[in-house]
Amino acid sequence: MARYRDAKCRLCRREGLKLFLKGARCFTDKCAIERRNYPPGQHGLNRGKLTAFGVQLREKQKAKRIYGVLESQFRKYFQWAEAEKGVTGENLLRLLELRLDNVVHRLGFAASRREGRQMVAHGHFQVNGRKVSVPSFLVKVGDVVQLRPTSKLQARLDDNVNAGRGQVPQWLEVDPNEKKGVVRSLPLRDDIQIPVAEQLIVELYSK
Ligand code: SF4
Repeated sequence: MARYRDAKCRLCRREGLKLFLKGARCFTDKCAIERRNYPPGQHGLNRGKLTAFGVQLREKQKAKRIYGVLESQFRKYFQWAEAEKGVTGENLLRLLELRLDNVVHRLGFAASRREGRQMVAHGHFQVNGRKVSVPSFLVKVGDVVQLRPTSKLQARLDDNVNAGRGQVPQWLEVDPNEKKGVVRSLPLRDDIQIPVAEQLIVELYSK
Protein backbone atom coordinates (compact mmCIF):
# COMPACT_ATOMS: atom_id res chain seq x y z
CA MET A 1 0.00 0.00 0.00
CA ALA A 2 1.88 3.03 -1.28
CA ARG A 3 1.55 6.28 0.62
CA TYR A 4 3.22 9.64 1.06
CA ARG A 5 5.88 9.43 3.80
CA ASP A 6 7.54 12.85 3.76
CA ALA A 7 6.73 15.78 6.07
CA LYS A 8 2.97 16.49 6.02
CA CYS A 9 3.27 20.17 6.89
CA ARG A 10 5.23 20.77 3.68
CA LEU A 11 2.07 19.85 1.78
CA CYS A 12 0.04 22.52 3.56
CA ARG A 13 2.77 25.09 3.02
CA ARG A 14 2.88 24.21 -0.67
CA GLU A 15 -0.87 24.76 -0.99
CA GLY A 16 -0.80 27.84 1.21
CA LEU A 17 -3.57 26.72 3.55
CA LYS A 18 -4.28 24.33 6.37
CA LEU A 19 -5.13 20.87 5.08
CA PHE A 20 -5.48 19.49 8.65
CA LEU A 21 -3.27 16.47 8.05
CA LYS A 22 -1.91 16.10 11.59
CA GLY A 23 -4.89 16.13 13.93
CA ALA A 24 -4.49 18.02 17.20
CA ARG A 25 -1.30 19.81 16.16
CA CYS A 26 -3.19 21.60 13.38
CA PHE A 27 -5.21 23.46 16.01
CA THR A 28 -2.16 24.78 17.89
CA ASP A 29 0.30 27.57 17.16
CA LYS A 30 2.88 24.90 16.28
CA CYS A 31 1.13 24.58 12.91
CA ALA A 32 3.64 25.32 10.14
CA ILE A 33 1.09 27.49 8.32
CA GLU A 34 0.90 29.74 11.38
CA ARG A 35 4.68 30.02 11.50
CA ARG A 36 5.88 29.94 7.89
CA ASN A 37 3.05 30.46 5.46
CA TYR A 38 5.08 30.32 2.26
CA PRO A 39 5.99 27.42 -0.04
CA PRO A 40 8.78 25.14 1.20
CA GLY A 41 12.18 24.90 -0.44
CA GLN A 42 15.02 27.23 -1.32
CA HIS A 43 12.93 29.33 -3.71
CA GLY A 44 9.71 29.14 -1.73
CA LEU A 45 9.47 32.87 -1.17
CA ASN A 46 10.28 33.74 -4.77
CA ARG A 47 7.73 31.74 -6.71
CA GLY A 48 6.10 33.67 -9.52
CA LYS A 49 2.46 33.93 -10.56
CA LEU A 50 0.68 30.71 -11.45
CA THR A 51 -0.37 29.95 -15.02
CA ALA A 52 -3.88 28.65 -15.77
CA PHE A 53 -2.42 25.14 -15.86
CA GLY A 54 -0.67 25.78 -12.55
CA VAL A 55 -3.96 26.79 -10.90
CA GLN A 56 -5.66 23.59 -12.12
CA LEU A 57 -2.72 21.49 -11.01
CA ARG A 58 -2.76 23.01 -7.52
CA GLU A 59 -6.47 22.21 -7.10
CA LYS A 60 -5.84 18.60 -8.04
CA GLN A 61 -2.86 18.35 -5.70
CA LYS A 62 -4.87 19.91 -2.89
CA ALA A 63 -7.68 17.33 -3.24
CA LYS A 64 -5.19 14.46 -3.40
CA ARG A 65 -3.40 15.69 -0.33
CA ILE A 66 -6.50 16.33 1.73
CA TYR A 67 -7.69 12.75 1.17
CA GLY A 68 -4.19 11.21 1.28
CA VAL A 69 -4.50 9.62 -2.16
CA LEU A 70 -1.64 9.14 -4.61
CA GLU A 71 -1.81 10.03 -8.32
CA SER A 72 -2.66 6.65 -9.85
CA GLN A 73 -5.48 6.02 -7.39
CA PHE A 74 -6.77 9.56 -7.81
CA ARG A 75 -6.93 9.05 -11.57
CA LYS A 76 -8.97 5.89 -11.02
CA TYR A 77 -11.44 7.83 -8.91
CA PHE A 78 -11.66 10.38 -11.71
CA GLN A 79 -12.37 7.67 -14.28
CA TRP A 80 -15.12 6.23 -12.07
CA ALA A 81 -16.52 9.74 -11.54
CA GLU A 82 -16.57 10.33 -15.30
CA ALA A 83 -18.39 7.06 -15.91
CA GLU A 84 -21.12 7.91 -13.40
CA LYS A 85 -24.17 10.04 -14.20
CA GLY A 86 -24.16 13.62 -12.97
CA VAL A 87 -21.49 16.28 -12.55
CA THR A 88 -18.05 14.69 -12.78
CA GLY A 89 -16.38 16.99 -10.24
CA GLU A 90 -19.06 16.35 -7.64
CA ASN A 91 -18.97 12.61 -8.34
CA LEU A 92 -15.21 12.69 -7.75
CA LEU A 93 -15.50 14.40 -4.38
CA ARG A 94 -18.33 12.09 -3.35
CA LEU A 95 -16.22 9.01 -4.11
CA LEU A 96 -13.33 10.40 -2.07
CA GLU A 97 -15.69 11.26 0.77
CA LEU A 98 -17.06 7.70 0.88
CA ARG A 99 -13.65 6.20 1.63
CA LEU A 100 -13.70 4.34 4.94
CA ASP A 101 -10.72 6.26 6.39
CA ASN A 102 -12.52 9.53 5.65
CA VAL A 103 -15.78 8.26 7.17
CA VAL A 104 -13.96 7.28 10.38
CA HIS A 105 -12.52 10.80 10.51
CA ARG A 106 -15.84 12.47 9.68
CA LEU A 107 -17.56 10.53 12.45
CA GLY A 108 -15.10 12.15 14.86
CA PHE A 109 -13.39 8.86 15.75
CA ALA A 110 -10.05 9.96 14.27
CA ALA A 111 -8.40 13.37 14.63
CA SER A 112 -7.33 13.34 10.98
CA ARG A 113 -7.86 11.24 7.85
CA ARG A 114 -4.35 9.96 8.32
CA GLU A 115 -5.20 8.65 11.78
CA GLY A 116 -8.42 7.18 10.35
CA ARG A 117 -6.39 5.44 7.68
CA GLN A 118 -4.06 3.94 10.26
CA MET A 119 -6.93 2.77 12.48
CA VAL A 120 -8.63 1.07 9.54
CA ALA A 121 -5.42 -0.45 8.14
CA HIS A 122 -4.64 -1.92 11.57
CA GLY A 123 -7.99 -3.69 11.58
CA HIS A 124 -9.79 -1.74 14.29
CA PHE A 125 -13.02 -1.20 12.37
CA GLN A 126 -15.81 -3.33 11.02
CA VAL A 127 -18.46 -2.58 8.42
CA ASN A 128 -21.80 -4.35 8.85
CA GLY A 129 -20.20 -6.64 11.41
CA ARG A 130 -17.26 -7.70 9.24
CA LYS A 131 -13.69 -6.53 9.77
CA VAL A 132 -12.46 -4.22 7.00
CA SER A 133 -8.80 -3.19 6.94
CA VAL A 134 -8.77 -1.40 3.58
CA PRO A 135 -8.77 2.41 4.03
CA SER A 136 -10.01 2.94 0.46
CA PHE A 137 -13.09 0.75 1.04
CA LEU A 138 -16.11 2.71 -0.23
CA VAL A 139 -19.10 2.72 2.11
CA LYS A 140 -22.68 2.56 0.84
CA VAL A 141 -25.94 3.99 2.13
CA GLY A 142 -27.06 1.93 5.11
CA ASP A 143 -23.59 0.66 6.02
CA VAL A 144 -22.79 0.52 9.73
CA VAL A 145 -19.20 1.42 10.60
CA GLN A 146 -18.15 0.43 14.11
CA LEU A 147 -15.07 0.01 16.25
CA ARG A 148 -14.48 -3.68 16.72
CA PRO A 149 -15.37 -4.87 20.23
CA THR A 150 -11.89 -6.37 20.68
CA SER A 151 -10.09 -3.16 19.68
CA LYS A 152 -7.81 -1.50 22.20
CA LEU A 153 -8.63 1.95 20.85
CA GLN A 154 -11.76 2.50 22.97
CA ALA A 155 -10.13 5.25 25.09
CA ARG A 156 -8.52 6.91 22.08
CA LEU A 157 -11.84 7.14 20.30
CA ASP A 158 -13.42 8.64 23.40
CA ASP A 159 -10.65 11.27 23.49
CA ASN A 160 -11.13 12.11 19.82
CA VAL A 161 -14.92 12.31 20.14
CA ASN A 162 -14.66 14.50 23.25
CA ALA A 163 -12.19 16.81 21.50
CA GLY A 164 -15.09 17.43 19.08
CA ARG A 165 -13.14 19.00 16.22
CA GLY A 166 -15.54 19.50 13.36
CA GLN A 167 -19.21 18.64 13.09
CA VAL A 168 -20.44 15.25 11.97
CA PRO A 169 -22.02 15.87 8.55
CA GLN A 170 -25.72 15.26 7.97
CA TRP A 171 -25.19 12.26 5.74
CA LEU A 172 -23.70 10.36 8.69
CA GLU A 173 -25.25 9.46 12.02
CA VAL A 174 -22.99 8.80 14.95
CA ASP A 175 -23.50 6.91 18.21
CA PRO A 176 -20.43 7.79 20.32
CA ASN A 177 -21.34 5.39 23.13
CA GLU A 178 -21.49 2.40 20.79
CA LYS A 179 -18.61 3.88 18.75
CA LYS A 180 -20.73 3.35 15.73
CA GLY A 181 -21.77 5.36 12.69
CA VAL A 182 -24.41 4.81 10.02
CA VAL A 183 -24.30 6.12 6.45
CA ARG A 184 -27.73 7.76 6.11
CA SER A 185 -27.37 9.08 2.56
CA LEU A 186 -24.82 9.95 -0.09
CA PRO A 187 -22.97 13.21 0.62
CA LEU A 188 -24.05 16.22 -1.42
CA ARG A 189 -21.56 18.87 -2.52
CA ASP A 190 -22.67 21.20 0.29
CA ASP A 191 -21.89 18.46 2.82
CA ILE A 192 -18.29 18.25 1.61
CA GLN A 193 -16.63 21.22 3.24
CA ILE A 194 -13.25 21.18 1.57
CA PRO A 195 -11.65 24.19 -0.14
CA VAL A 196 -11.33 22.64 -3.60
CA ALA A 197 -12.70 23.91 -6.93
CA GLU A 198 -13.41 20.47 -8.40
CA GLN A 199 -14.29 21.88 -11.83
CA LEU A 200 -10.64 22.85 -12.28
CA ILE A 201 -9.61 19.24 -11.69
CA VAL A 202 -12.05 18.11 -14.38
CA GLU A 203 -10.59 20.70 -16.77
CA LEU A 204 -7.06 19.51 -15.99
CA TYR A 205 -7.82 15.86 -16.67
CA SER A 206 -9.91 16.64 -19.74
CA LYS A 207 -7.00 18.15 -21.68
FE1 SF4 B 1 -1.02 21.43 7.95
FE2 SF4 B 1 -1.64 20.50 10.33
FE3 SF4 B 1 0.94 20.83 9.64
FE4 SF4 B 1 -0.65 22.93 10.13
S1 SF4 B 1 0.00 21.37 11.59
S2 SF4 B 1 0.78 22.72 8.43
S3 SF4 B 1 -2.62 22.24 9.27
S4 SF4 B 1 -0.53 19.39 8.74
